[in-house]
Amino acid sequence: MHPRLAADLAELPELLEAAQRHAVAFLDGLAEAPVVPEVPARRAVPLPEEAVGLSGALRDFAARWEPGMSASAGPRYLGFVTGGATPAALAGDWLTAAVDQNATSSLDATGQHLERETVGWLRQLFGLSEDHEGALVSGATMANTVGLAIAREWLGERRGVSPAEAGVAALGAVRVLSGSPHSSVAKGLSVLGLGRAALRTVATLPGREAVDPVALEAELRDADGPCIVVANAGTVNTVDFDDLRALAALRDRYGCWLHVDAAFGAFASLSPDHAHLTDGLDLADSVCVDLHKWLNVPYDSAVQFTRRRDLQARVFQNAAVYLGAVGAEPDLVHLTPENSHRLRALSAWFTLRAYGRAGHREIVERNVACARTLGSAIEKIEGLRLLAPVRLNVVCFTLADGPTPERLAALADRLTAEVFMTPTRYAGQPALRAAFSNWRTTDEDVQRVARALEHAVRAG
Ligand SMILES: *Cc1c(COP(=O)(O)O)cnc(C)c1O
Repeated sequence: MHPRLAADLAELPELLEAAQRHAVAFLDGLAEAPVVPEVPARRAVPLPEEAVGLSGALRDFAARWEPGMSASAGPRYLGFVTGGATPAALAGDWLTAAVDQNATSSLDATGQHLERETVGWLRQLFGLSEDHEGALVSGATMANTVGLAIAREWLGERRGVSPAEAGVAALGAVRVLSGSPHSSVAKGLSVLGLGRAALRTVATLPGREAVDPVALEAELRDADGPCIVVANAGTVNTVDFDDLRALAALRDRYGCWLHVDAAFGAFASLSPDHAHLTDGLDLADSVCVDLHKWLNVPYDSAVQFTRRRDLQARVFQNAAVYLGAVGAEPDLVHLTPENSHRLRALSAWFTLRAYGRAGHREIVERNVACARTLGSAIEKIEGLRLLAPVRLNVVCFTLADGPTPERLAALADRLTAEVFMTPTRYAGQPALRAAFSNWRTTDEDVQRVARALEHAVRAG
């Protein structure tokens, strides 16, 4: 063994304590650190030849890279949809690395049983029935892609071919219909060989991002054969929800596949005041939910559910003598694009075990209350206006006069020490979004963001 490696092994407890102290200091700084620090870009250095050991690597990380790290795990990082990591989720993630399991196979089954228990808890969290089987993947993009892959195999079943065996060319043209699809849907279609051009955007309801069921029905009636419908349960701009029951009824009438992208919107079902938004989610054929957003587990984690695990295993089976037959209870190696993967379920397991449904409901309800408070504050700030009602956890707003992408970017840039928000375009207007999904965010943070916004608008 290399002497530095041997020395690190000998001092492992002390070294891990040093790394832990370092992590704790970083987390302690989250509330007051610049949300996105301004640091010059770092140049990559050549591969080190000499060993410096863990303590040397920690020092180098602290000197060169850590100063540029954003407070994306903190309370006022409101860009994209970015959760943090609850204390239990963080500890679960540390333990994931410590136990270093490859949860893929019943030849060494405990990790896979833990993932199945976790998927069962998530199913109950979102009110899905046991007809939905699930597996964890790296993010909602992957969960959407897996759902679309199962849909592709379902289309094949309808047409008497298996695209998994014969290739997508055997399937012929495919139409995918959606009102306000997330960009990851087009990426998934590209990966799956269905093509980005297969995606057809359907009219939405007036002044809304939710699909117009009448327009969707017209598309389904005119389509040449079965389609895939991607429903949206929480759009990123205004958190609008398709009427999932109406879409399921169209699915039953016209025979299509109904995939629901509920990346963060699924969490509305935790709040009795908002659960109606996800009504009908269980009727979907496949469902995508991110866990590294509103469940507040560290990257990278999401869950995908489906009622047709048989088709899923047809797509993702990794038959090999050493792995055994696929069987009626397929091992995880047969269900997702990955073979080997970390025991991703453990951080979700920890946070659900530690805080239960009640604890996670409190996070969701507090985040929604924060979004509403910021929405009301923005309505009162001269020079700003809301572009949409605050339906759940996102505030979409712009400058009252002459908003341009450049002016909004300048406004957001002036604020990055206090709050991070990301740009968008909504209803033909350049805009900014503030998305609440971090367990640390409190009303005090919202007051601070509102004050910073008011100053920045006045100064600009
Ligand atoms: C974030 C998001 C995605 C993509 O998720 P990743 O975790 O970045 O892969 C897809 N759909 C919706 C609605 C999202 O909010």
